[in-house]
Amino acid sequence: MLPQENILPKSLQEVKKLLKEYELHYEKIHACVNDCCLFRKENEALDACPKCKSSRWKVSESNKETKKRIPAKILRYFPIIPRFKRMYGSLEIAKNLLWHSSHLSQDGKIRHPVDSIAWDLVNHKWPEFALEPRNLRLGLSADGFNHFRDFSSPYSCWSVMLVTYNFPPWLCFKEDSMMLTLLIPGPKQPGNDIDVYLQPFIEDLMKLWKDGVVVFDTATQSIFNLRAILLWTINDFAPYGNLAGCFTKGNFACPICGVNTCSTWLTSSKKTVYMGHRRFLERDHIFRDKSTWFDGTCEERGRPEVMTGYDVANAVKNIKNDWGKKEKEREM
Ligand SMILES: [Zn+2]
Ligand SMILES: [Zn+2]
Repeated sequence: MLPQENILPKSLQEVKKLLKEYELHYEKIHACVNDCCLFRKENEALDACPKCKSSRWKVSESNKETKKRIPAKILRYFPIIPRFKRMYGSLEIAKNLLWHSSHLSQDGKIRHPVDSIAWDLVNHKWPEFALEPRNLRLGLSADGFNHFRDFSSPYSCWSVMLVTYNFPPWLCFKEDSMMLTLLIPGPKQPGNDIDVYLQPFIEDLMKLWKDGVVVFDTATQSIFNLRAILLWTINDFAPYGNLAGCFTKGNFACPICGVNTCSTWLTSSKKTVYMGHRRFLERDHIFRDKSTWFDGTCEERGRPEVMTGYDVANAVKNIKNDWGKKEKEREM
């Protein structure tokens, strides 16, 4: 099918070898079946989870013996630092990564995150970071998916992708500029335990933010210290709670309003509803006084105060996390 002189690798083995040469391999990290911990660092040599005592290895269903050397759960981590280094090794990509520094919107309209308030905030707060346009600004996206879109299968996998916003808008979300960083195995969704799986990735992100790494830039033929910042996360509403550590259900389900969320429990329907939308209207809006048009009340309250990053950090700083699926969750 392919022309004689094609240079495509002949086998999967060859592809793997090729990727290894470019240092674009991935790490297999064993995990506890109940999501308590990863078998790395201090847990590296263990054969069972230090918390829930489940075996690190697969257990045969028939005779309950452990199948040695067949891990029960594997997290796949695609290290980000060598990949970023590679990006600056290609002249074309290195040039594209600088697009944001020369394409600021002139008419006040947002065409790219470079025109956003968040981008400005970073420039303002960490001017030394902003001074180096080659530093990366990233977005993290986490979502579950079924293999081969087989929705009949209950087995699902979770992927964590990284978007590099230094690229022009038409490249940011192209498959080849987005980076797959983690593949979290199912069958159950990790829920709040996603933090356990994010560890190796967060460690690399922290290194990139705090110290940076020395990278060779092909465009200028020189080395520089590359740093990176995570601007935001992109996810559905439920994982938003897991990733950002806020409520996404119950009385305080609105992550923006927080404890000021306007919620009512319907005793007959047995569910929480979120009312009080008229709070967000202008003070003199006619809807505010039309009690019969709405729920029989006049609305006098103003919009609730939005929690700042500091407020949120303060509110969550003392939360003690207890990773791993509890007995009850395991059965579900
Ligand atoms: Zn465990
Ligand atoms: Zn709200």
